Amino acid sequence: MPNTSQVISCKAAICWGAGKPVTVEEIQVDPPKATEVRVKMLCASLCHTDISSIQGFPYINFPLALGHEGVGVVESVGDQVRNLKEGDVVIPTYIGECQECENCVSGKTNLCLTYPIRLTGLLPDNTSRMSIRGQRLHHVLSCATWSEYMVSDANYTLKVDPTIDPAHASFISCGFSTGYGAAWKEAKVESGSSVAVFGLGAVGLGAISGAKMLGATKIIGIDKNEMKREKGEAFGMTDFIKAGDSAKSVSELVKEMSGGMGVDYSFECSGVAPLLTESVEATKVGTGKTIAIGTGTEPIIPFGLTSIMYGRTLKGSVFGGLKAISDLSIVANKCQKEEFPLQELFTHEVPLTDINKAFELLKKPNCVKVVIKMSH
Ligand SMILES: [Zn+2]
Ligand SMILES: [Zn+2]
Repeated sequence: MPNTSQVISCKAAICWGAGKPVTVEEIQVDPPKATEVRVKMLCASLCHTDISSIQGFPYINFPLALGHEGVGVVESVGDQVRNLKEGDVVIPTYIGECQECENCVSGKTNLCLTYPIRLTGLLPDNTSRMSIRGQRLHHVLSCATWSEYMVSDANYTLKVDPTIDPAHASFISCGFSTGYGAAWKEAKVESGSSVAVFGLGAVGLGAISGAKMLGATKIIGIDKNEMKREKGEAFGMTDFIKAGDSAKSVSELVKEMSGGMGVDYSFECSGVAPLLTESVEATKVGTGKTIAIGTGTEPIIPFGLTSIMYGRTLKGSVFGGLKAISDLSIVANKCQKEEFPLQELFTHEVPLTDINKAFELLKKPNCVKVVIKMSH
């Protein structure tokens, strides 16, 4: 048992610079400061955004302790922490929720102004508790989950039911919840409506799941990978388009499948730049709404202006508009009660020491989620 007031040495996945290889090295994790908790990670997972992280987007600060999906147990707490205690099972969040700021009380956004996204990769006091050979490590936003131990601010940490399946808890800490929230909180999908989801990774499958929960009757999934058909159906997809199989554009195919007018809502979850225009074109003129949740690595992309001129709406979203405490705890409860088939996402598993294999596995057509197991 580590002494809670001591520095812990442990293994973590590190990236030393944009495009540099990922290495598993021994790091030091300091005890938590007043508003922080030190977390012993149970398991983590790989999200497509992690690939952008090691390519240096949108962060510029290295060395970087990697990973933002995961679940762990609180090992020690700072002396001002009231909502968490040793032994609590927690998932780190990359946005907080103060429930008091202008944005939190607006009921319109999850982008809390008191506890914003940490684009610096540092804790709110602009430092981190992680270091390697005396050099400070940065996080992916507010956490670093591919580490045996990490410190996060208590305001960016959600307590979950300790009986929750650890792998499933990891999946809802980013990807799946982002899609689910986009349908629930951003699009506010209505019963009987039609939906198209571009890209059937964990985010897209989450959007399908959310659309189904809200009563959408036509849920069209689009992916270039035929193996995603079965996954989509498990979460409630009603129709599948295999991208690249037809001379027609995907938006034309969606329109054909939805009575010629297009769908009420679309979700761009692939991050593939040309699909943003397609996802908007696939919605109804005058009323269609598109939520963009896929992240690519290009900050500026071409966009078909005419697609949005005829009364359609395009909205961006962080974490699917989910508030980090009030909304994510609802998703966590549903996860704990197995209301969605999250086992369908779990396709591969690697130990932390084999983290590079996880990136290789993610390229395989049958891969949805790679779980990263901690050795302790
Ligand atoms: Zn707030
Ligand atoms: Zn993510």
